[in-house]
Amino acid sequence: MLYLDHAATTTMRPEALEALDEAHHRFNANASGQHSDARAAKNALEDARERAAGLLGMDQPHGIVFTGSGTEADNLAVIGASLASQRRTVAFSGIEHKAVLNAAGSLKRFGYVLHVLPVTSDGVIDRDAVSLVAGREPALVSVMLANNEVGTLQPLLEIAQQLREQDPQIVLHTDAVQAFSSQEVTFPRTGVDMISLSAHKFGGPKGVGLLAVAPGVTIEPLIHGGGHEAGRRAGTQNVAGIVAMVAAMEAAAQDRAGFTTRVGAERDAFEGVIVAQHRGAVVTAGTAHRLPHISHMRFPGVLAETFLIRLDMSGIAAAAGSACQSGAVEPSHVLTAMGYDDVATGQFVRFSFGWDSAEGDGLRAASVVLDVLRDL
Ligand code: PLP
Repeated sequence: MLYLDHAATTTMRPEALEALDEAHHRFNANASGQHSDARAAKNALEDARERAAGLLGMDQPHGIVFTGSGTEADNLAVIGASLASQRRTVAFSGIEHKAVLNAAGSLKRFGYVLHVLPVTSDGVIDRDAVSLVAGREPALVSVMLANNEVGTLQPLLEIAQQLREQDPQIVLHTDAVQAFSSQEVTFPRTGVDMISLSAHKFGGPKGVGLLAVAPGVTIEPLIHGGGHEAGRRAGTQNVAGIVAMVAAMEAAAQDRAGFTTRVGAERDAFEGVIVAQHRGAVVTAGTAHRLPHISHMRFPGVLAETFLIRLDMSGIAAAAGSACQSGAVEPSHVLTAMGYDDVATGQFVRFSFGWDSAEGDGLRAASVVLDVLRDL
């Protein structure tokens, strides 16, 4: 199988696997306990917090809140910061992950007003809309650094500066879940107040994430209990998972330039061959600033669902739309926000490469994809 679904989840990095295994053995105690085994687990947890904070350009490790997923980090950011604010307006781009969209949507029945920032046909946020939203005194603005379907990157620092100039009180959040493997994700580079990450997108285990919160930003906890994570997220911490996530963060951060070159070369070779040899194939947002590992393409006249099944039978794992819990393919809200109609949205497929994609995978995959297209 040629696995080209790394944006859904990627292979664990060896550094993370090793850290996970070791931490399971060495730090099995509850980090909140009073004995020496518990202290060892607590030390490992706080060491991981410090290292994660360092990687994100934070002076204080206190701002790191470990969570059970990227979804939870997004919910904590969007709902937590909105509840902590006196304001009752929340804004976000139309191409955010469902974790942000639906978290914001849940605020509606508590009287919050939602504003959706429109995007261009390339999936880049409309800057006039940013200006307009800043005038509405939002509690929070959430803009993802990179989109998980089409791979478009936002000029986040510029957007953040624009918003702050107009209204210094806005709390800014970014979902950087897809961006971490290739982009420098730090507070100074993004200009935001909160950053969400998910371990399994950059080579860590599933079911672990974090929300990094800048000093001075207040969030209401969503999960109440024993006061873990300085009262911001109760629940016994998954020390081994957290330690493995931070090991993956370090490995991914060190490998960023290499990842971009290696993976980008495979992706570009893949797209180059397909566009040259299949009439009508179009790369989505092809001229926009994009993540190096995502190739999102439209094949007019080819139904994505059928295409995916045939690809699977031919040994290629790819994705279309966003697979929901039932495994069904729903029309993509991202493509709808970019202006595509219902017929068009059913004709897009996402191929995503990863840190362990091998040299030649791009051309090998292109050859299989072209065979399947010829058959179809
Ligand atoms: N945000 C983005 C951009 C994602 O791609 C994903 C995963 O698909 C998430 C959030 C959710 O992360 P998790 O799978 O850890 O809940």
